[in-house]
Amino acid sequence: MTDWNSLYASRMQGVVASDIRERMKLLGASEIIHLGGGLPDPAIFPYSALSAASAAIWTDPVRARTALQYAPSEGHAPLRQWIAERMTGDGAPCTADNILITNGSQQGLDFIAKLLLSPGDKAMVEIPSFIGALRAFDAYQPLYIGLPQDSAHWDAAALGGANFCYVGPDFRNPTGTTMTLGEREALLDLADATGMALIEDGCYEALRYDGDAIPSLLKLAIARHGDIDKAPVLYTGTFSKTIAPSLRVGWIAGPAHVVRKLVLIKQASDLATSALNQMLLLDVVQTVLDDTVTRACVVYRERRDSMLAALGEAMPPGVTFTRPEGGLYVWAELPPAIDATLFAQRALTEHHVSVIAGAAFYPGGTEVTPGQRRSFRLSFSMIDADLARDGVMRLGELARRMTLESA
Ligand code: PMP
Repeated sequence: MTDWNSLYASRMQGVVASDIRERMKLLGASEIIHLGGGLPDPAIFPYSALSAASAAIWTDPVRARTALQYAPSEGHAPLRQWIAERMTGDGAPCTADNILITNGSQQGLDFIAKLLLSPGDKAMVEIPSFIGALRAFDAYQPLYIGLPQDSAHWDAAALGGANFCYVGPDFRNPTGTTMTLGEREALLDLADATGMALIEDGCYEALRYDGDAIPSLLKLAIARHGDIDKAPVLYTGTFSKTIAPSLRVGWIAGPAHVVRKLVLIKQASDLATSALNQMLLLDVVQTVLDDTVTRACVVYRERRDSMLAALGEAMPPGVTFTRPEGGLYVWAELPPAIDATLFAQRALTEHHVSVIAGAAFYPGGTEVTPGQRRSFRLSFSMIDADLARDGVMRLGELARRMTLESA
């Protein structure tokens, strides 16, 4: 009998199932109010534009052949060109040589870790951090260092030695908070002083509901260093939250010489992203990207406002929560006596509401503070405001009960 456990590579030791993926299996259970996963609302996907783009491919034999053939590993050239022009127009001058198309930005995070981490290397991450990034990095066996929350402590002498620092500056997953311009500049100072790379996750950048946009780290770095090829930043972008996640099209933007290395990883991993999906996506972004983003922002803004109002009404004193200017998430902190993991379990079993306990978002090996044990993530993206309100009311009732039980 094969003992599979004895055959697994050491890198699998730290790899565990994601609580969020496990919860997604519950999505079919209709009685559950899902405030856990941050899926985009399928009502916003541009169905007719995708259908027209698809028909146009199949009626043109030259395009049809390209669509079903292997794409170049770097990505479909016209899509790379479109992304480069769009980023240039947005203030991050670059060319197609600076762009690698990936199967979603998740693959981009995996490739970057594969490129930059040997076992035992230091990887700096925000705490808490996007769980998918942590799981991607885990497989390369880094030693995690937490980026201190207060930028006054971003001291090159104390924080040196990391190969990279991973951040999601806009409307972070999971906290919904946004890095200020001053913090972005301070992080670039830190990168310049220590020589580490910055991995900028731009997943939610387009989903801003109020306030002024703050320049990305990539834009600021290009302005500082004069050229993307000299910037210390690798930016991961995606069309998952602006068009549709199933197309699995994302990209990495960064110095051309680093992109060439990442192309070698892409070749070894899956040769190329689907040509068909890239062609569909290019057609759709050229026609309806801006309208789709505008529509998504209207829908999500309303849901955010409704969820924040419900939290204000439902939660007992001592519960605090963030007020995101964009993205899909709110982060709440329970009073000292309540453990968020137990709270999330009871929310699901007793009240049929799913939320994600904060523990999922902390990297292994870093210290977890009492405040972190009391935190949980809510998402307002996928269900209508009234149902979400009902869910938040049930969470409020549970928070009150657990507060009383602990008294
Ligand atoms: N980064 C962040 C912060 C995310 O929340 C997600 C998915 N929710 C991703 C990256 C990965 O998205 P995708 O692979 O679909 O581009």
